[in-house]
Amino acid sequence: MTYKTSRYNIYKKVDDGLLIYNTYSGAFVHISNEILNKIKKVLNNPNISGDLDIKKIFMENKFLVDKNINELERIKEDYYKEKFNEKRLTLMLLVSESCNFSCPYCYINKKNINMSREIYNLILKFISNTDRKNNLKEIRISFFGGEPLLNHNLNILFLKELNKKITDKTKTFSMATNGYLLTKERFSEYLDNELKNFQVTIDGNRETHNSLRYTPTDKDTFKTIFNNLISIKQLDREFNITIRVNFMDGEDEKYIEFINKFKKEFKDDERFIIYFRPIMNYKTTKFNNNIGLCLKKDAEDKRLIYTKKFYNGKRKKELLTKLNFDFLPVKKNYWCEACLKNYYIIGADGMIYKCNIEIGDKKYSIGKITEGKIIYNFDKIYFEDFSPYDNEECRRCIMLPICQGGCVRSSRDSNIKNCPYTLKGIEETMEYYHKISIE
Ligand code: SF4
Ligand code: SF4
Repeated sequence: MTYKTSRYNIYKKVDDGLLIYNTYSGAFVHISNEILNKIKKVLNNPNISGDLDIKKIFMENKFLVDKNINELERIKEDYYKEKFNEKRLTLMLLVSESCNFSCPYCYINKKNINMSREIYNLILKFISNTDRKNNLKEIRISFFGGEPLLNHNLNILFLKELNKKITDKTKTFSMATNGYLLTKERFSEYLDNELKNFQVTIDGNRETHNSLRYTPTDKDTFKTIFNNLISIKQLDREFNITIRVNFMDGEDEKYIEFINKFKKEFKDDERFIIYFRPIMNYKTTKFNNNIGLCLKKDAEDKRLIYTKKFYNGKRKKELLTKLNFDFLPVKKNYWCEACLKNYYIIGADGMIYKCNIEIGDKKYSIGKITEGKIIYNFDKIYFEDFSPYDNEECRRCIMLPICQGGCVRSSRDSNIKNCPYTLKGIEETMEYYHKISIE
C-alpha cells in the first residue's frame, strides 16, 4: 500500500515540539523535539522505509492515509448518507408552547397553547405513513416546549399509542423540562412508557436560579426542582437525567456553592450527569434585562473549571464527550439536525419548522401537518437543499469534517460565511489542550 499525509492534518509548532490534530479522526498528538526529525521524514515522504511503528500509529489515527482514498468524497458520502437517511425519523414536538417560567434569555416565541389531541393524532398518522413508505428502523422523539409537562396527560396518551404502533423499532424518547412539575409520580409514568432521557435546566444556586426562573406565585422554584430530583433518585429504575446548568458571568462562588450541593446528593449516582453552558449574547437571543452575559473565551474556561470541580478533575475522554465537552471538535456528519431531510420540529398548532431559533415564527414555517402528511411551503425548504459540497470554499476547507458547512440558517440569511471555526482558533485550542495535558 502507498500512503499520503491526510489533507485534514493541522500542524502547530510549539516550543517543545510539534502538535498535530486531524479534523477527520479527531486525533491529537504532541511530537517532542527529540523525535521531531524522524517524524518529519515520515510526514514528508510516507512511502520511504521509516519507523514502522510510527507509520502504524499515524495510519491508525489517520494522519497518514491510503494514497487511493479520496478523503473529501469519504466525508461527503457520510454527510449525504445522514442527510437523506430515510430509515430514521426524528421529531421534536413542541407539546406546549406555553410555560410556567419566564426566563429572560428564552428564545421561543410562546403562544400560550398546548398541543391538542387532534394534532397528536395527526402526528401518529404521519409516523405510520412514513413507516409504511420508508420502513423505518429508528424513531427519535423529543418533547420540548415551552414547558412540555404542561401537557402531561396527552403526552402519556400519545406515548402509549405510539408504543403500540412501533414495537419493532429502535426508539429514543427524551424530554427537556424545567423540572418544576417533574414529580416522582409523573416521572414514573414516563418511564413506564419508555421515555427515559431527561434534561432539566437549573441556573446555578438557589439565589441565581430563583432570580431568573420563577412562576407568578412561586419565587423559590429551586427548592421544588431540587426536591423533585432527590425524590426521583429514590426510584430503583433505569433513566438518565442531564442537569444543564446555565451560567452567567461574574457569579463564580454561587456556581461553586451549587456544584458542592449537587455533588453531595448526586455525584455517585451515574444516572445523573451535569454539564455547564454559558448564557451568551447571541444575536438571536431576546434580551431585555441587563444580566451578566458570558464572553466566549471566559465561558470556555469556566466550563472547564466547573466541570473539573464537579468531577474532581477526572478527565476521562468518554465522560467529557458525554458532557458535550470536547477540547478539540470531533468529526460530525452534519452540523445540526435542521439539515436532515427526516427531521421536523412540530409546533403545538401543527406548523412545521426546521431550526430551533425559528420556532413559532410562521414566516419560517416549512409547512403544516395534515391528514398524515406534511403540506410543504416549497419556497421554504432551503434546509433540505443546502449542502456544503456545493460551495467551493467549504469543499477546500480543512475544517469540513468538524463543520459540515456550519449553521444552515446563517448561511441562508447572510452573504458572508459564518464559519464556526477558524484556523487561528483551532491552533489556540491545540496549544491550550497541550498546556493543560502537561500541567
Ligand atoms: S462553513 Fe466555513 S469553516 Fe465550515 S466548512 Fe465551510 S468554509 Fe470551512
Ligand atoms: S440551523 Fe443554525 S440556528 Fe438553526 S438550529 Fe441549526 S445551528 Fe441552530
